[in-house]
Amino acid sequence: MSRSKRLRERGIADKQGYICHKCLGEGELSQIVADSDSNDTCSICQEQNPSESLINLANMLLEAIEFEYEDPANSVGFESREGGYYIKPIPTRELLFDKYEIDGETLDLLCHIIIQEYWVKKHPYNDWEDDKMMDEWQVFSEFVKHKYRYYLNSLDHDPLDRNSTVFKHNPNLILEKFAQFVFEHDLDKKLPANTRVYRGRKERAGENHSTMNELGPPPPEKAKYSNRMSPAGISMFYGGLEIELCLSELRQMESELIVKISVWDTTKELLLLNLTNLPNLPSDFDEEGRLYKREIIFLHRFAEEISKPIVKDGNEHIEYIPTQVLTDFFRTLHFRHEGHQPFHGIVYESSTNSGECLVLFCGPEGCVDSEQDIEDNHMLLFHPELVEKHEVTYDVEMTHHRISLY
Ligand SMILES: [Zn+2]
Repeated sequence: MSRSKRLRERGIADKQGYICHKCLGEGELSQIVADSDSNDTCSICQEQNPSESLINLANMLLEAIEFEYEDPANSVGFESREGGYYIKPIPTRELLFDKYEIDGETLDLLCHIIIQEYWVKKHPYNDWEDDKMMDEWQVFSEFVKHKYRYYLNSLDHDPLDRNSTVFKHNPNLILEKFAQFVFEHDLDKKLPANTRVYRGRKERAGENHSTMNELGPPPPEKAKYSNRMSPAGISMFYGGLEIELCLSELRQMESELIVKISVWDTTKELLLLNLTNLPNLPSDFDEEGRLYKREIIFLHRFAEEISKPIVKDGNEHIEYIPTQVLTDFFRTLHFRHEGHQPFHGIVYESSTNSGECLVLFCGPEGCVDSEQDIEDNHMLLFHPELVEKHEVTYDVEMTHHRISLY
């Protein structure tokens, strides 16, 4: 087969020439070409900058496009009387301009070389593939907030509604895919034994908390409030690796407050789900990375949601459900995945301060206040002698606080 015919079968017109990175706009493709070793004369500007051949550029663009789009002739019905597809296809020109930021003469040239003129999203009749559905976080959130919340494991169909979205958007499948990604990409962090951890508690006038029971996680029957990761009735330890972090997390609620900071050491190595160092969203031109685009978007959405400040306006009972369900999913993952060590908690970035916040999956039963009493089920040793009282004032311009040792 001739070269020209081979190219044509790939959907590329055989044309000689090069385009330099400067003529490729500001998008990802331009950045990739900027690293190229070849300096052939650019067919557009006639300069000798890092460049790539027209054929290679067309091929790269086609591979990126074909990852999400396909030829409408293969999947969309054609209405010959009306003379058009049932779903409006997107011209190549529009895709190159909107998605890859290519314009001007370069756009004209590349549109001549890529033979395919129109595209539609893959599986165009399945709303799973809609832009909105690309955001599986939204699908999952809506599902657990407004449809089903418990026993997601057993949901492979909805007995009451055979046309329901359960078939298409089983949240359990979304979660399992997500867990697989976490395992494969080592998204965990080991917090060594004897790591210092701080926890803040607000104090009202007249209160003077000093004991482990008062400053540690509440007993389950007193865990009255919904939190980002724990629903009312389930107690967890929320803390941070720095004092300033605990103060700034509490400071969001009020302008002036008294905070007791309690000091803890981990009693053993703890395995945490690590949301502080998530992979960046992969480029469409990254063959390996783009396979995980959805999982990465989902993880970022989860990390974003849990680091948002707590707002107690009554809606938290619904709004925090997705992150609570997801936390529960990770808390119980080792029961479903043989050989996987249980996660003891999650580490995530604070929204208010650059630093690492923690949630540990333990209530008072995981805390101990004397070294002699440490047992296997404990995670944290409380230091009663290190409790600090902070008076925090906050204004827009500056933040300061006075410390008095308790
Ligand atoms: Zn150029």
